[in-house]
Parts: sequence; structure tokens; C-alpha cells
Amino acid sequence: MHIRPSDETQTQGEQGNAVQESKEAVQPKPELKHTVVWRCKDSACKAWVREEFAESEYPPCPLCKGPTIRTFKFLPDMPKKKTRKPKAGGSKK
Ligand SMILES: [Zn+2]
Repeated sequence: MHIRPSDETQTQGEQGNAVQESKEAVQPKPELKHTVVWRCKDSACKAWVREEFAESEYPPCPLCKGPTIRTFKFLPDMPKKKTRKPKAGGSKK
């Protein structure tokens, strides 16, 4: 027969599950961010470009080179590309 010491079962209890509190890191979906884009004026042309990626102040349509209008979309937030060197030995998931 195995006899467990009674105090061991008491220290562990509901407290083992109480650790699950709302952590900000847990986000299954990417957050959509209000992003300024330049969209082609031609309704038949669905091309658009993010303002941060636009090469000029008033970028032409990337597809038909036509005029674009400034609007916005809700897009997943993208990490800005900077020319900083990544940390050495970084471990990505
Ligand atoms: Zn276009």
C-alpha cells in the first residue's frame, strides 16, 4: 500500500490552476491596425499600397500607374523594417 503524506496534497490544490490569468502575450489573432494606404482610383483595379511603403508623396498605382486616392484599411500590424542589425543568436519561434 502506498501512503502519501497528507500535507503534500494540501499544498497543491486549486492554486495550480490559478496561474492562468489574462496575459497580454496570448493573442491568437493579429491585431488589425488602422493603416493609411493609397488605393487606385479605378474601381476595377484593386491595387493599393501602404503609405509607409509608398515611394513618393503621391504614389501612382503599382499596377496600372493610374492616380490613387488616400484612404485607409484595417490591416495586420507589420513590424517596421529597419536597418538595425538583429540581435546575435536570436532564437525565433
Ligand atoms: Zn490601378
